[in-house]
Amino acid sequence: MTAALKGIGVSPGVAAGPALVAIQRTQVIRFPIGPGRVARELSALERARARCQDQLRQIRQRVSELSGAELAAIFDAQLLMLEDPMVVGRAAELIAGEYVNAEWAVQRAFDEIAAVFDTVEDPYLHERKGDLHDVTGRLRMNLRGEKGGPRDLLEDLASPCVLVADELTPSVVAQLDWSRILGFATDAGSRTYHTAILARSLNVPAVVGLRDVSARIPAGADVIIDGDTGDVRIDPTPGERLEVEARTRLHGRRVSVGLSGGPSATVDGIAVQLHANIERSEDVSLALASGAEGIGLYRSEFLLVGGAPDLAGEDEQYEVYRHVVERMAPRVVTIRSFDIDERQLVRRPIDTALDARWFPEHDRAGHGGLRGIRFGLAQPSIFKTQLRALLRAACHGNLRVMFPFVSSVQEVRAARRLLDESRAELAARGIDPPSVPVGIMIEVPSAAFTSSLLAREADFFTIGTNDLIQYTLAVDRTDERVSDRYEPLHPAVLRLIRQVRRGAVREGIPVSVCGEMASDPLLLPLLIGCGLTEFSMTPGALTVARGVVRKTHAGEMGRLAARVLTLGTVEDIERCLRESFGQPADHKEVQTE
Ligand code: PEP
Ligand code: MG
Repeated sequence: MTAALKGIGVSPGVAAGPALVAIQRTQVIRFPIGPGRVARELSALERARARCQDQLRQIRQRVSELSGAELAAIFDAQLLMLEDPMVVGRAAELIAGEYVNAEWAVQRAFDEIAAVFDTVEDPYLHERKGDLHDVTGRLRMNLRGEKGGPRDLLEDLASPCVLVADELTPSVVAQLDWSRILGFATDAGSRTYHTAILARSLNVPAVVGLRDVSARIPAGADVIIDGDTGDVRIDPTPGERLEVEARTRLHGRRVSVGLSGGPSATVDGIAVQLHANIERSEDVSLALASGAEGIGLYRSEFLLVGGAPDLAGEDEQYEVYRHVVERMAPRVVTIRSFDIDERQLVRRPIDTALDARWFPEHDRAGHGGLRGIRFGLAQPSIFKTQLRALLRAACHGNLRVMFPFVSSVQEVRAARRLLDESRAELAARGIDPPSVPVGIMIEVPSAAFTSSLLAREADFFTIGTNDLIQYTLAVDRTDERVSDRYEPLHPAVLRLIRQVRRGAVREGIPVSVCGEMASDPLLLPLLIGCGLTEFSMTPGALTVARGVVRKTHAGEMGRLAARVLTLGTVEDIERCLRESFGQPADHKEVQTE
């Protein structure tokens, strides 16, 4: 029987096809079970565990083929967790002892272990908590009879489909294969929300704000969504289907402007470069597959993760950098010198107390200590080893060197001196690398304030908004208790970004943005409005960003940015942006034959 629902059309056009239903809701319902149902819940738990194991083994296999064994090892840890009696065993105990449903029992088991992890301040355990969260999430998903993840959801579908979801988070959007999705409908969302911007940038019809559409449409049901009127039909009549086909023919095929790679430009013709942030040399494949025009940030310190101290040797580093540079050539590769904190490395003897080396302790940078360029200057031998490796790799392609965590002109001058010394050392060995652009990350407020001075010392700037926001607002980006104060739209942050761009423009050097801010579809147009035209982000975000760029009118955004920069609160800025993006975007639609 046909049924009709009414929502808000946020991206025009009509789509018809089988429904793919994806529910990400995290809340878990607890319901009591009678003793007669215990066995059923226990066997459902066992089946879910078996499905998780299969899925994780498959994912491990895929990751290992795509990115190498090191990354695939993450899934070994998750597989081990599935065997741990504290997880599935504990959940089974709760089912049998407290007569509760399996899904809730799994969540309780997670909460119990997480509470223990939280009492220990150890970054390693914090990471394990993330894995545990993933594993228990997967168990719960399998208990609800769902498939293993957004991509897996599409695997069984022979034909393109209409995505019906409770909500679409950016991370899920980044994982989906949009060439197989005709349009989408969500419970959540409003005309001005992120999902609307996403739909327009992907150029697919969309209806949002349907409240319970994900519960009302059964998987596989035939649906029509009308992004012009906000209408959704379930099991449409043959007449309604014919009408859709006629409308699709009349309006021509919608092109997915967001999907193709290559150079991007705004509606008014401003060229925008989209580069990838990578952590490992294997990520180059992902960057290329996502159409990255270059590597805007290679976080080289990830070479040190996993306790392989030999990688810190010049030859080993050279091989890794060379591989990245060669694979990306002729595209640019920006390699950041190690952004580590001295406290993250421990000095340990190898054979004798006299022969000591630095070993990695943790894998992420700490706060405000002897970090980034400061560490490099304090440990010139480690720093110069890396600089020599970088200079040698520059012989094989288009490499730029970048120094992180710069807070003063003196630091840049000192680092440049060490680069010159490294070059001289190579010359003594008969190696003569080409000249290499030297850039700095602007991620500390003192650097942002003195950007016009620093611009005379550097060949390019990259704004690291992740750190710039945390140090400007005095909000630790890893501390959940203050996460609501981490505001990219804070007037101080926006003003600093404008100031950095002005400093760069005045001295005629390029400036890009490589923090998470650049990958947010709501913030990217604003950054373009601030005059920024180079961005680097995680490869998964590039498709959406490309679509956003091609829908953005830089001139309009410039006027919007000017207005936003007069506003005093984040709330006012957000309202201004949402109102602006809520206007119908029909005049920007792209139609083809
Ligand atoms: C940043 O600070 O914005 C940045 C890109 O660097 P990281 O996230 O590695 O600190
Ligand atoms: Mg940073």
